[in-house]
Amino acid sequence: MRVFKFGGASVKDAEAVRNVANILQNYKGEQLVIVVSAMGKTTNAMERIVNAYYKKTGEAQARLEEVRQAHYAVLKELFEANDPIFDTVNDTLVEIEWVLEEEPEESYDYIYDQIVSIGEFLSTQIVSAYLNKAELPTTWLDARDVILTDNTYRAAKIQWDATIKNANRVVTPSLEKGFVLTQGFVGGTSENFTTTLGREGSDFTAAIFSYCLDAESMSVWKDVPGILTANPRIFKNVTKIDHLSYREAIEMTYYGAKVIHPKTIKPLQNKNIPMYVKSFVEPNGEGTLISGDTEINYPPIIVVEKEQILLHISTRNFSFVAEDNLSVIFAALAKHQLKVNMMQNTAISFSVCLTNRPERIAALIEDLSEDFKITKEENLELITIRHYKSEVVERLKVNKLILLEAYIRDMIQMVVKDVPEVERIG
Ligand code: ASP
Ligand code: MG
Repeated sequence: MRVFKFGGASVKDAEAVRNVANILQNYKGEQLVIVVSAMGKTTNAMERIVNAYYKKTGEAQARLEEVRQAHYAVLKELFEANDPIFDTVNDTLVEIEWVLEEEPEESYDYIYDQIVSIGEFLSTQIVSAYLNKAELPTTWLDARDVILTDNTYRAAKIQWDATIKNANRVVTPSLEKGFVLTQGFVGGTSENFTTTLGREGSDFTAAIFSYCLDAESMSVWKDVPGILTANPRIFKNVTKIDHLSYREAIEMTYYGAKVIHPKTIKPLQNKNIPMYVKSFVEPNGEGTLISGDTEINYPPIIVVEKEQILLHISTRNFSFVAEDNLSVIFAALAKHQLKVNMMQNTAISFSVCLTNRPERIAALIEDLSEDFKITKEENLELITIRHYKSEVVERLKVNKLILLEAYIRDMIQMVVKDVPEVERIG
């Protein structure tokens, strides 16, 4: 069997859903698990509902109406007015209404998962109904019946043993009948509460199914021809990389390449399952293959992560920033779930680059400021260049102020700031 993942852009409107069905016609009769994300920007729209509800702005209903209208617009194009899918979608939206009727008493993260996950339920119901209509027999699967997690809402951890058992028990028999289609991003606790795996988590879901069911391969269908040497929205002259090792893919995504979720690779690597990144626009293109280590000569690969901050942490009493102080700092970073993107230390100071999460960072600073003096620089970029060539590095430095720079084997990382336009005198 194989696993396919279709992200939000691939199902963003009626035409996109038809395109997915067209692609899948080529695989009719094969054993496929299909993982689908919420349509287009639905997850962001769902986050707006959660925020309005939680902060009691009075706008939650209006935000829900936007989500409803967007999905009905797709339904109207794809189905006859009397199709039962209209009721199915309506019943799913009612689940949000039920939540909105109560006062927000539970934690933000819990509420988030119960509401935001509905985006994936809506999209999978619609796509599954459409595939069946297009004579592609498809079983809709509730991912919560397979993916068992703990109750770390918004960053749920997989309970692998139970998930493997569930997958084989629930999915395998359905694959005899045709495709099995399920939600990305979503899991469930043993108490039947819904959890989510973190933004962009659908790739990870596909990898979980691949691992549990020993897939022959996994394919992620995207709006780019494959993995590129840099983000085409930022750089000119980007090229497709035909073949990447798991190691290379994990390094790229860890430092912010948005092309696949960083957690995706490990389950695949552990079972040596090849992964393809392919284009849903040009489905016959070769795409990019990610597989076990082979000798590959990589071109320079550039990853730019925005919204970075730099914290300079120094001891108040002039003690060295050595093992004991560092362990205090790292414990605080872990406590506030902040990921270190880059770091450097001197005798009495430690600089760390983090993605800006204002609340968590404020809490971190508060925890540490008794023992440490902390300054913060904002609006920075972290540029990672793997397999760098010096002319590429030099070009990237133009008009930038370099605040931190490190060479690690054939990778260079720098934290930079745009240089303000300086007016010349004379
Ligand atoms: N729909 C979720 C998100 O937008 C998960 C995903 O698309 O992978 O973050
Ligand atoms: Mg997405």
